[in-house]
Amino acid sequence: MDEAVALVVAAGRGERFGAETPKQYASLAGRAVLRHGLERFIRHPRIGRTQVVIDPGHRAFYDAAVEGLALPEPVAGGPSRQESVRLGLERLTADAPDRVLIHDGARPFVTSDVIERVLDALDESVGAVAALPVADTLKRAAGRRVIETVARDDLWRAQTPQGFRFNEILAAHRGAAGRSLTDDAAVAETAGLTVALVEGGAENIKITTRDDLARAERWLAGAAGETRVGQGFDVHRFGPGDHVMLCGVRITHEAGLTGHSDGDVGLHAATDAILGALGAGDIGEHFPPDDPRWRGADSANFVRYAAELIARRGAMLSHLDVTLVCERPKIGPHREVMVDRLAELLAVSRERVSVKATTTDGLGFTGRREGIAAQAVATLRLAPDDT
Ligand code: MG
Repeated sequence: MDEAVALVVAAGRGERFGAETPKQYASLAGRAVLRHGLERFIRHPRIGRTQVVIDPGHRAFYDAAVEGLALPEPVAGGPSRQESVRLGLERLTADAPDRVLIHDGARPFVTSDVIERVLDALDESVGAVAALPVADTLKRAAGRRVIETVARDDLWRAQTPQGFRFNEILAAHRGAAGRSLTDDAAVAETAGLTVALVEGGAENIKITTRDDLARAERWLAGAAGETRVGQGFDVHRFGPGDHVMLCGVRITHEAGLTGHSDGDVGLHAATDAILGALGAGDIGEHFPPDDPRWRGADSANFVRYAAELIARRGAMLSHLDVTLVCERPKIGPHREVMVDRLAELLAVSRERVSVKATTTDGLGFTGRREGIAAQAVATLRLAPDDT
């Protein structure tokens, strides 16, 4: 099997962090530190599965942190990081991958480039470690007194992910049981395996102290992700009925809108605009019209789903602008309620939502009052490392 698995180790108790919530579950820009890293592996096209190792005592923190993510049951870790990794590797033997990337749950900012470099290096080497050359001058000291300056020319700071061919690192970890080694590369080295260094990332920091967390918050706030714009368009024709659903609001009318779901053109156009900005296909792909589950469905579900995709990508909705095109019903009296409803469904403030309406001056199918059309434009800010 030519598949890579990410094994994310989050079983630490983190005594240095000094807070009730363990550091890997601390909130970083509204999401757990662990979740930031997990999302980056889950969405990486070359990672087939992501397996987390946790302290079973943290189960409630874990469940809250990963809500909505598609992950296998977590592995219960051991008393040390090394033992937790070994237990994670043992779990993977049931459906053994070709390669495994072992990553610290407290490193939220691993980039797709670093993941790529570690995977590529495994073509040539049994092991590969993301690392950065040491830039600061190093001193050896006795207490606070300098004894000597250490040459730093060949020194690197090891990060994670650390990638390995699976069978080799599993055997190395089994052989190292009972010894205390500082990282998985050290386990591999002890077993005589070749470990290559690839360029890590300056932003790929490990959250160890509360200061680290504060710095990470500031970095995230300042890091501008790419802006993406998507557009959506939809039409439904009038049919029998006594009301229409428009932007999630029920409006009494002399006709209804036909369609497989509730025919809410506003919400359909909005959903398609968001999917467009994410490059995630269209509404018909996610909710096939021939699927009986969506017969008469409340279209609010489609918009909630789109909002969930935004969150999963670590993106944010900057703005949504919807234009409804019809002669009747009059939209004006319902506009504010529509904005409130869309903001609620998308979990954003109402300043980020706009609803407008126009007629086509009696021309075309909307002018003949045969149906209603809607256009929407969604502006999204992707996560800083998502391109
Ligand atoms: Mg539609």
